[in-house]
Amino acid sequence: MIVVMEPGATDEQVQATVQRVESLGLKANVIVGTERTVVAAIGNKREHFKESLESGEGVSAVVPIVAPYKMASREVREEPTKIRVRDFVAGGGEVGFIAGPCSVESESQLLETARAVKAAGATGLRGGAFKPRTSPYSFQGLKEDGLKLLAAARDETNLAVVTEVMGTSDVDLVAKYADVLQVGARNMQNYRLLEAVGAAGKPVLLKRGPSATMDEFLLAAEYILNEGNDQVMLCERGIRTFEGHTRFTLPLASVTYLHRKTHLPVIIDPSHGTGHTYMVPDMAVAAVAAGADGLIVEVHPDPSSAMSDGYQSLTFEDFGKTMRRCHAVLEAIRSVDA
Ligand code: PEP
Ligand code: MN
Repeated sequence: MIVVMEPGATDEQVQATVQRVESLGLKANVIVGTERTVVAAIGNKREHFKESLESGEGVSAVVPIVAPYKMASREVREEPTKIRVRDFVAGGGEVGFIAGPCSVESESQLLETARAVKAAGATGLRGGAFKPRTSPYSFQGLKEDGLKLLAAARDETNLAVVTEVMGTSDVDLVAKYADVLQVGARNMQNYRLLEAVGAAGKPVLLKRGPSATMDEFLLAAEYILNEGNDQVMLCERGIRTFEGHTRFTLPLASVTYLHRKTHLPVIIDPSHGTGHTYMVPDMAVAAVAAGADGLIVEVHPDPSSAMSDGYQSLTFEDFGKTMRRCHAVLEAIRSVDA
């Protein structure tokens, strides 16, 4: 349920509502908006507490939250969530561009890439130090050495470092170096990991599982939000379908759907979503045109020699051109919407 406070409700009235919600055995989350403050009353109790809460001072209305995900729902928070970390901003009309190699391979590979993507306008640096690979014989990442290289690149460029954490036992280590914790597609329903990144107090980039429905995706985000961490970005990275001409099938309608259902920013990954370098620029531009709050793109100094995902990585030159096209589309759309 959402307890909607009156526009002029005092802090004391909000606190009294919180106490009332908690005394009913529910969890209270206060969301302060520009128009109104709401107290989300979350719990799996079946009793109907509407009347009891409605009589509280300063309470305007008590309405049920229809969506299965509560804190992620637009019903609870109408205004879009903005994620801001270092130079990176995504959500509420701001578009954040994250770029970098699939895997961190060496100091020169990472630093060169960080400098190039920053020069092209990126504000986030991606790069896997812990790599989830289909085969145990494939390159597994440089682990902590990779994290150290990411931190060094961040110190030089001020790009926000986005890197994957694969297991609960690695959360503290990765959080020590990263600005944004990435939960990979294969781990979208690893609920203990979702709770752990929720408790780590850093923004999270949650990738959609290749066979997850939208409700499952949003409920996974709910696990993170439920830990008191409201800094969650949803990343559409393509789903598995019968189609084989692309590595995954990239549904750009996810942007529009998610914007209707949730206040969380939506990031598109055109690299994993297509699996082919030649498709990435057009899908990046299309995602921005569709209203995505950000992109995460694989870029490598020499894609043909990459230790992972070179076949879907852009060169510096192609990334630069893609960024110019994205900005041109953004400006054109903004000029119409203004
Ligand atoms: C990645 O971003 O490098 C990655 C492994 O992505 P995903 O989890 O979407 O497969
Ligand atoms: Mn990759």
